Amino acid sequence: METIKVLIIGSGPAGYTAAIYTARANLSPVLYEGIEPGGQLTTTTTVENFPGYPDGVDGPQMMADMRRQAERFGTEIRTGTLTRVDLSSRPFHIVVDGEKELQAESIIIATGASAKYLGLPSETQFRGQGVSACATCDGFFYRKRDVAVVGGGDTACEEATYLASLCKHVYMIVRKPYLRASKAMQERVFNTPNIEVLFEHTTGEILGDGSGVTGALLRKTDGSERRIEIAGFFLAIGHHPNTELFADQLELDAEGYIKVEGGSSRTSVEGVFAAGDVRDPHYRQAITAAGSGCVAALDCERFLLAR
Ligand code: NDP
Repeated sequence: METIKVLIIGSGPAGYTAAIYTARANLSPVLYEGIEPGGQLTTTTTVENFPGYPDGVDGPQMMADMRRQAERFGTEIRTGTLTRVDLSSRPFHIVVDGEKELQAESIIIATGASAKYLGLPSETQFRGQGVSACATCDGFFYRKRDVAVVGGGDTACEEATYLASLCKHVYMIVRKPYLRASKAMQERVFNTPNIEVLFEHTTGEILGDGSGVTGALLRKTDGSERRIEIAGFFLAIGHHPNTELFADQLELDAEGYIKVEGGSSRTSVEGVFAAGDVRDPHYRQAITAAGSGCVAALDCERFLLAR
């Protein structure tokens, strides 16, 4: 059976950065792309906050560049999804696409997290054209316009206050009669004059035309309907880390994110490292994911050298 020295799972900024570093360290990494090659960035438009791209870069282009850089140093990139992983003994045992078996001396998990969406057809229709799950990434495109944020947690409050600094008016669409966010975040929201919290409202439909989102149809719990005019519709109803494969094998936190030791990438199983959004419920940026991919590569290299 094939034995891989460094197996990298996931092809976002964390996975590719880990690949670039381990490949340059002569560790012959093999990277499995997973079901969404390139990760979440392939669903965004222009990325303007990744250093080194002064004119911005399209998300898919940036991921293609990272991939090329990883390949340049000898990373073997494979199409396929891991369907079973046994971390109980080393080398670790892996099954790809339900059939191909292989072994790995070390693993870097960079499977990311997925934003939750409401599930409306109009949401899919306007994704990237006004519908976004990342205010930090896309808020800039809606400067001086009116936007809406869905959700009542810390992320929604943070995104709403961030958007309020750029946009004219920010609606927060909250399904409960209260916010779930911490008191401090709530106070920031209530003290920001251009945020309007619409409690007990849900989204019936996102409205738009060829130019993108133009509004949303909201429903109140008393049955009344309201139409708001907006150019951007931001989802902030949570993320779910892609850790199903490792449940019961690695220590996860209450939300399912992989726990790591201190500022390292070391998981509860020796030889298994985690990088990017799969271990980070807070920052979730391409640059922080890339940084943690580098940390994982260096931790992995040290682990392999010390054996
Ligand atoms: P949360 O799970 O805390 O909040 C999700 C919000 O979205 C809730 O208000 C929830 O409503 C709402 N929601 C969920 N599904 C739907 C739906 N289908 N329709 C409408 N509304 C919906 O997620 P967050 O991303 O806000 O936070 C995740 C974790 O990260 C938390 O522990 C949070 O504290 C932490 N965090 C901390 C930050 C900080 O400290 N600076 C910043 C960001 C996050 P309901 O309340 O009704 O369930």
